[in-house]
Amino acid sequence: MSRGDMAKPLLGHRSLEGDPSTPAAGRTIGVLGSGDFARSLAIRLVCSGFKVVVGSRNPKRKAGLFPSAAEVTFQAEAVKKTDVIFVAVFREHYSTLCDLADVLAGKILVDVSNNTEINHHKESNAEYLASLFPASTVVKGFNVVSAWTLQSGARDGNKQVLICSNNQEAKRTVAEIAQVMGFTPVDMGCMSSAREIENIPLHLLPAWKIPIFLALGLFLCFFTYNLIRQVIHPYVREQKNKLYKIPIEVVNTTLPCVAYVMLSLVYLPGVLAACSQLYYGTKYRRFPDWLDQWLQHRKQIGLLSFFCAALHAVYSLCLPMRRSHRYQLIETAVKQAVEKKMNIWVEEEVWRMEIYISVGIIALGLMSLLAITSLPSIANSLNWREFSFIQSTLGFIALVISTLHTLTYGWSRAFDENQYKFYLPPTYTLTLLVPCTVILAKVIFSLPCIQQRLLRIRRGWEKGRYVKFILPSATGEFSSGETSSNV
Ligand code: NAP
Repeated sequence: MSRGDMAKPLLGHRSLEGDPSTPAAGRTIGVLGSGDFARSLAIRLVCSGFKVVVGSRNPKRKAGLFPSAAEVTFQAEAVKKTDVIFVAVFREHYSTLCDLADVLAGKILVDVSNNTEINHHKESNAEYLASLFPASTVVKGFNVVSAWTLQSGARDGNKQVLICSNNQEAKRTVAEIAQVMGFTPVDMGCMSSAREIENIPLHLLPAWKIPIFLALGLFLCFFTYNLIRQVIHPYVREQKNKLYKIPIEVVNTTLPCVAYVMLSLVYLPGVLAACSQLYYGTKYRRFPDWLDQWLQHRKQIGLLSFFCAALHAVYSLCLPMRRSHRYQLIETAVKQAVEKKMNIWVEEEVWRMEIYISVGIIALGLMSLLAITSLPSIANSLNWREFSFIQSTLGFIALVISTLHTLTYGWSRAFDENQYKFYLPPTYTLTLLVPCTVILAKVIFSLPCIQQRLLRIRRGWEKGRYVKFILPSATGEFSSGETSSNV
């Protein structure tokens, strides 16, 4: 990375380097440790206008690793020169710093450490550090940014720095330093949040776990189903070896099934939520946990659906490149010549294919739009109406067009008994089940009587809201059901 990049603040609109009007800029910051994190931190601090003093057990050896503007000295010397010290050493080595307790008294210690396992220790690292240095003020922060992010300049990396402490003043000082460095400090409250902050870098795609398992589960089911129909059936019935179909053909018939069903699963929870609201006549009743979870994972389910659809498009484009395809083409031509057939053009088949490919391309285009607009940077540039129009209206249109793609692909195969291998219906008929249910439900919800009721519920109207309050007094003024005031 160029030095020029490092010189820029991470956030473009802020130009606080060396700005004397900023309370944090220009002050001396201490860093204990001379490892990867300490080095990146020191470089970022220097580039943001701070004076940096690094405390090392071996300053002579380590000085060459730091920018010349940073002073590298012994630990005790370094901590004397500053009030804010970043402790860039591992938890296991905190106790080796205990000799410095007197000099560190009254100073702010920033705990940047991470663990190797979630909830590794009884108490968080920051709480442990605070217990070793009771006369100092400990602030947890900067552990969610990596050494790489600290160095990666204006364009890359996570910009949020989560901060917590029991001391408001110390927390504000560290937040100011983070801001001057171009990060966005996020106040996470008091020290009891440190454990949660330390666990964050250890989570592996937490929001993606359920959608990925769902996609893998669907893939496995459809793959097995297609394998039975396309490979095992011809082997059992005609002793034909079709194993060569597994890597491309079977995968390529499985991917669109997963993409299509996953796309419908983005819209199904909305339908279930609407059913629940209509049934209970209120929007203030909590959805069951599973539905809540499902609603929260719609974005990831949609992105995985797009991923499978994109792979399906690439696989489909590659179909004619296969050797097996070329052999089959030549074989058909030879057969035709032997049978002296001049014209094999089937008008219906031609039209089916033209329409099927065309709607497939449109569906993929719409899904790309949905995927792009779900990215935070793009979503943030849209207002609520634009976002809802793309994700909800265009998303539903994408589902309808994907259904047309599936129907034109299947055409009349569902009525051909030769397609029922081992009595199993063609795969596309199975995939239609959930999407068609969603489309049908959406059509029903758009009927004026139901749409209006749903709209009223979503604006806060509740069925029998007043009845519930009035019935205990048994005045008999209102019959059960809707009251005149809330109709
Ligand atoms: P590192 O490269 O191994 O550096 C650790 C430093 O600790 C050493 O260079 C050493 O400096 C110092 N130290 C002090 N007392 C020590 C002792 N008794 N034994 C061994 N070393 C001692 O580790 P790092 O990657 O910089 O990580 C430092 C801290 O930052 C850790 O708590 C880590 O969890 C946290 N962190 C790191 C990253 C990252 O991307 N690397 C990201 C977030 C948080 P001297 O020899 O000069 O004393």
